Amino acid sequence: MRKLSVFSIKRIIIIVTVFTIGLFLATSSIQSKESRSVLQAGTAKVDITPKKPVKMAGYSSRTGLSKGVHDPLSARVVVFGGTPLRGNPNNGKRLVLVSTDLIGFYDGTAEYMRKVILDEFQLEQSELFLSAIHTHAGPSLTINKEKGHPNNLEYTERLKVKLIEVIRKALSNMGPVNIGAGIGYSPVGMNRRELKFDSSGNSSIRLGRNPYGPTDKEVLVVKMTKPNGRLIAALFDYASHATCLGGKNYTISGDVLGLAEQFVEKILGEDVIAAAFAGASGNIDPWFRVLPAFNNEPGWIPEPVLLGTMLGEEVVHTFRDIEIPVPAFARKHGDGGGEIASAFVTLELPGKPRNETAIEKDCPPTPLNLTAARVGDIAFVGIGCEVLTEIGMAIKAASPYKHTFVITHCNGAAGYLPPEHLYIEGGYEIKSSRFAPQAADMVVKNAVKMLHEL
Ligand SMILES: [Zn+2]
Repeated sequence: MRKLSVFSIKRIIIIVTVFTIGLFLATSSIQSKESRSVLQAGTAKVDITPKKPVKMAGYSSRTGLSKGVHDPLSARVVVFGGTPLRGNPNNGKRLVLVSTDLIGFYDGTAEYMRKVILDEFQLEQSELFLSAIHTHAGPSLTINKEKGHPNNLEYTERLKVKLIEVIRKALSNMGPVNIGAGIGYSPVGMNRRELKFDSSGNSSIRLGRNPYGPTDKEVLVVKMTKPNGRLIAALFDYASHATCLGGKNYTISGDVLGLAEQFVEKILGEDVIAAAFAGASGNIDPWFRVLPAFNNEPGWIPEPVLLGTMLGEEVVHTFRDIEIPVPAFARKHGDGGGEIASAFVTLELPGKPRNETAIEKDCPPTPLNLTAARVGDIAFVGIGCEVLTEIGMAIKAASPYKHTFVITHCNGAAGYLPPEHLYIEGGYEIKSSRFAPQAADMVVKNAVKMLHEL
């Protein structure tokens, strides 16, 4: 047997060492690829506070122009997409979530804005959630050159340009992110369908407070961080009208949901985007509702600020409790690793017949846009109208996902959609709705089906 020389032993040690280091590097590079998030996201925010006095949205009795600004209005954008890694299912797929501090996209402005955005960025219909927080202390949008106020026409055109700019900015700053979700609860919203009796003992449903009525108290929160842990966004979904201020108020404000966004950004840092989405809140008002103004008497906390701060604090509590899962761990345990899927449908919903709740002629069938998407195991349902809270709760209860954002005033503005059983009681939302009683069930069934098929 030939003896190995000291030189040969040294050579073997070097070869084995080099091989081991190589193997280690190769494995760790595979591991680091494994644990790298496949998800990318970008965020951006732009100020959309009116620079001139404007007609305000939400109350037909309010005819004058706005006077002054209490707090700024913003449009916030979160864009999800995939990394260009080979085999990544998100390659090319995008999801653009837009939250605006406005009442909604009424009078044809949803179709108008959507078309411009879809064309500009070559998006599929299902990849855009254009939504509003439903503040009643903001401008009304109009593209009607005959009837629209010049300042509102100008505002709407300027908004279109700003939305394009802010979405482009969010798309341009995309990078790897990790996301997680959590659930908090808030008593800020209250069912507003109050049973009242007149002097003859006749009952009717009036707008007020109904502590016995269903109220969805969930505050859904998504936390988004860079891989190094830096916070970049908080998304939250809560079911309440932004109507702490009423028709006598002429001051611009984001109201409860807008003030909650501003509070969260103040606490988490101004470079963190806090985008609010209005949940199913057709029959939910803030606890203090339709007040004439910000009450500035010494010692008093104005109600919109009080309620906005209360909601904002719950968002921050929930946000801080969310532990971001390590993507490799999340994938192994079925969290999906951040894949994006989306679907879009326009439902043709039956109109309310003539004999239903004191209307004089049949309402024609009305189209309703329904959008569903998921990012990993977090789902989003966008509804192009104002659904009552029972409908959102039914969708969430039947959703196959633990966290399902129901986003109303999204991709359309078809008015109130009440659940069938409330047509017997009547009341404001039922009277103003153009939908037949069976329409709500169609929306729930379709939304749940879309979620299951994502
Ligand atoms: Zn409303």
